[in-house]
Amino acid sequence: MLPPFRPSKSQQPSNSAGPEAYARGEVGRGLLGGEFRLDYQPKLHARRGVIDSVEALVRWDHPRLGMMLPDRFIEQCESSGTINQLTLWTIERAIEDQLEMRRQGISLRVFVNLSAQLLTEERTVAALCSLAMGPGVDIGIEVTESSVIADPEIAFANIRRLREAGLCIAIDDYGAGLSSLTYLKRIEADELKIDKSFVTSLGTSHRDPLIVRSTIDLAHALGMSVTAEGVETPAAHALLTVMGCDMMQGYLIGRPMAPQALIRYLATFNPA
Ligand code: C2E
Ligand code: CA
Ligand code: CA
Ligand code: CA
Repeated sequence: MLPPFRPSKSQQPSNSAGPEAYARGEVGRGLLGGEFRLDYQPKLHARRGVIDSVEALVRWDHPRLGMMLPDRFIEQCESSGTINQLTLWTIERAIEDQLEMRRQGISLRVFVNLSAQLLTEERTVAALCSLAMGPGVDIGIEVTESSVIADPEIAFANIRRLREAGLCIAIDDYGAGLSSLTYLKRIEADELKIDKSFVTSLGTSHRDPLIVRSTIDLAHALGMSVTAEGVETPAAHALLTVMGCDMMQGYLIGRPMAPQALIRYLATFNPA
């Protein structure tokens, strides 16, 4: 299976520079000035052979620093207290894009990544619940160990609330943290995303295929579907399919892309 569309390397933003310090006001200015945008990475439903969801990934076209990937600014946004503003923008934009695609006949669940602070702030959780209940809205959230670590009890309770409000819950980067089994015990999630560090080494490591296979079985036994992230090769795709992995995400399926590019990609997508 070959992906029909790949943005060229030159269009990919860079992650190379070291950490920068952002002034507190910069995120607000950037949001007002339209400096942020979302790219969407497709997720392939393996058995059905269709793209039925996407993950929204934020990018910042900074006037001085250029196009930046999240690893260059999310942490600063978290420590400067501007992350909730950015996350709410992300969710609103994701919903706008979803409704626009729906008008064009495309139905996709859109997943957004949540930061820790959002899950501990009552007001933001309530805002997210009411946004998620809008007509035609189908949003999922991806939570990581770092998004619950600050105050696990409150975070777990809020995740439950969000799920009750109809949001699909995915546990992100599974296996990358140290206390992953605690998530499975405490979070009733719909989906488990196996961290790409296990997926990219499937062909070279002796142990990783065993870990991935038993993780898939464990997730299924708990009633969750499984997404593998970082699927880069046909060999990984084939092995994961045999293991019963439900969804595939990675450069083999498609890179993160702007909404217009996603629409073109979907129009020509042919899983055969
Ligand atoms: P993540 O949630 O684990 O997202 C997947 C990252 O892996 C993305 O990087 C994506 O471009 C990259 N990726 C996708 N497929 C492949 C592949 O086949 N191989 C490899 N090597 N990499 C692949 P990106 O866009 O740089 O995002 C980095 C992280 O930033 C994300 O990791 C997520 O934790 C965070 N992030 C992204 N958007 C948001 C956001 O709106 N809010 C928050 N709080 N965090 C975000
Ligand atoms: Ca994610
Ligand atoms: Ca991930
Ligand atoms: Ca990650």
